[in-house]
Amino acid sequence: MKLKYRYVFSKDENFSNDIINFLDKNSIKYKVGYFITVEFCDSDPYFDKVQQLFNKYKFIVNEVSKVYSEKELYNAEWLRVRSVYRLGYPQPENGYASNITYTRNGNCNKCEYGLTQIDSFYINKIPDWKDNRNFYQLYWIEDEIFLSDFAVYVFKNNDIMVEYLPVKRYKNNEIIDGVRQVKIKTLDKGLFLSEEDTKGRINCSVCGSEFNILKGETILKI
Ligand SMILES: [Zn+2]
Repeated sequence: MKLKYRYVFSKDENFSNDIINFLDKNSIKYKVGYFITVEFCDSDPYFDKVQQLFNKYKFIVNEVSKVYSEKELYNAEWLRVRSVYRLGYPQPENGYASNITYTRNGNCNKCEYGLTQIDSFYINKIPDWKDNRNFYQLYWIEDEIFLSDFAVYVFKNNDIMVEYLPVKRYKNNEIIDGVRQVKIKTLDKGLFLSEEDTKGRINCSVCGSEFNILKGETILKI
């Protein structure tokens, strides 16, 4: 397992040119758009040097994620699927939870625990499955994952017993080819969160429902 670091800096700071000069001099790849974005791993030869330098400056984002080898993934007892690709909001943004995708019957007004899905998600941005992307999530919706046809094929061929729901285009209600929502019908004991997965629990002050705060693999500093 190696750690992958992603730093994002403003390109308008007085140190921005120092960073670019350093990256150019050391032939380290970066992207410049609205920001300067650099990614590197702890196994890279210049890791210590670059991290030492970057930590002197004010960065906008510093994310760390774990990258596993194929062998590690193959030998793992459990694999967790989560999406790092997000696109768009559930449609209509001001009504999807009011008897369109979800019904509000009986749910808590504060934490929204108890919303029941009664129809498909409607979207207005179609995911782009480039660069081996096969999972995506909508903004605002933390507990639903959407899949490409390839991911559905892999799930089916590995006896991963989930069902799939269609996703619809908001402007004409048509089912969108190549995008499905995962529906999990049964939970196995192994799927429950362990103490290791959570960094704490909170209770809704209105209905008392308990929520787990997941341990992320990301550090975000602003
Ligand atoms: Zn509540």
